Amino acid sequence: MAVTVRICGAARTVTGLALLFETPRARFLVDCGMFQGPKTLKALNWEPFPYRPRDVAAVLLTHAHIDHSGLLPRLVKEGFSGFIHASAPTVDLCGVMLPDSGHVQVMEVEMLNRRNRRRGRAEVEPIYTPEDAAAALRHFRAVPMNRWLEFEALPGLRARWWNAGHMLGSASIELEFEEEGGAPLRVLVSGDLGPDCSAFHADPEGPQTLDHVFLESTYGDEDRPCLTHAARRERLAGLVKEAAHPDGALLIPAFAVERTQEICWDLVTLMQAGRIPHAPIFVDSPLAIRATEVFLDHAAELEDGRAVRRALRSPLLNYTESGEQSRRIAEVEGFHIIIAGSGMCDAGRIRHHLKRWLWAPEATVLLTGFQAEGTLGRYLLEGRQEVRIQGEAIRVRAAIREIRDYSGHADAPELAAWLRARGRVAGGLFLVHGEPPAMEALAQRLTGEGLARAEQVIRPVLDDGWRLVPGRVPLPLEVARRRPDPAEAGRPDWHNARAALLLSIEDAIERAPDAASRTALMARLRAALEAPPG
Ligand SMILES: [Zn+2]
Repeated sequence: MAVTVRICGAARTVTGLALLFETPRARFLVDCGMFQGPKTLKALNWEPFPYRPRDVAAVLLTHAHIDHSGLLPRLVKEGFSGFIHASAPTVDLCGVMLPDSGHVQVMEVEMLNRRNRRRGRAEVEPIYTPEDAAAALRHFRAVPMNRWLEFEALPGLRARWWNAGHMLGSASIELEFEEEGGAPLRVLVSGDLGPDCSAFHADPEGPQTLDHVFLESTYGDEDRPCLTHAARRERLAGLVKEAAHPDGALLIPAFAVERTQEICWDLVTLMQAGRIPHAPIFVDSPLAIRATEVFLDHAAELEDGRAVRRALRSPLLNYTESGEQSRRIAEVEGFHIIIAGSGMCDAGRIRHHLKRWLWAPEATVLLTGFQAEGTLGRYLLEGRQEVRIQGEAIRVRAAIREIRDYSGHADAPELAAWLRARGRVAGGLFLVHGEPPAMEALAQRLTGEGLARAEQVIRPVLDDGWRLVPGRVPLPLEVARRRPDPAEAGRPDWHNARAALLLSIEDAIERAPDAASRTALMARLRAALEAPPG
């Protein structure tokens, strides 16, 4: 059976994973992720799909993260009518994450349209709305893990989901294509892989004897020391004790799914053991609250599910869902802890709390994850003295701390160990879901360790296609139409550079000592703009 694959996302970048497999009998996708990050990358979410959604018979989904699932509502909106197969926790997490993503799309477009109206430009439609997300959810079907499954819409194929240890419900997907008169074609898509030191999830697993492997490479260039869960809690305890000022607050910007639940579990456990002062903990994020409910429903899937369930139900945790409950946190006296999204401080309720506390030396902000360039979280981490929140300048006097020991991703040695455990791969090893330096470093490590020959390692560019043959290196296909390569278009992102330039002009004008020097500065800027280039 002739099998081909097209890389429709997460090529030389870490978001938007979508692999289109095609046999003479059916077409299907593994994942249908949204591109996230700089504007040039996000623009790909508006580009036409490189296939007709109505021609896609089914989607097999590795996990719920938006960069893997986020374009499913658009796929359905544009004519996809099949089923979306995913593990039961993934189905439930998508049930809260996709409508939230629809809400974010609507808000972003509203902001953009306000600007467009002022400039007399045409208004744009959101990529999808919460209603579109709800419609997509009706296509989801839960699958069991570790069992061969066949689907009516996909004749000649069977698939099996393996624990990927990356987030609740996350999986690697094994595909076996029937070959007439011979051994089947065996393919494995890693999805995102978790670290071996995850406190929540068992280590990733997978099958052996494969023809082709699609391997994520997010941290392909990192070798991070893996803290034991006890050591990580110890580090968190130290940070909380240091932050516990009697009139202060500890603000923890955190991703709503997984990170918030892990931190809540650790904080409650530390408080109950008397290792940190007792203080109310506010989980101030509707998305995190709904995700926590999914964690409670599927706690049995976690390594230490009973303890997690007890902790997440502790009266020490105050779940503030409504806006009114959220506003009342401001009336709390004495030390308290607030966990809210977004993890990079660029959206969500954390911004209100930062506005109220950043100027106060009694407060601490504890950053818990990766802070992308240009985000408020990154500015805080860089030690800026003043930041802007919703147009307002705010002095930073709070202590800014960071804990980097909560991670959902395997590092380079763990990726290599995962691949070694898969045994010999006969055909292609596709490196996806990584930026070029990470892919390059991982490719060198894997060939250096004898896990793949150089000619087996493939670094796909967006929209590249291959014919997959059992036991042999894949054969490249002609590409009729290409979308812009995110690795070229996205870096350096001129949108970010423009925002930074406008901000420094504004700052310089404001800093000028008087009206005369302000006017002079503006005259110099104008002259520079009007001068011929060169
Ligand atoms: Zn992920």
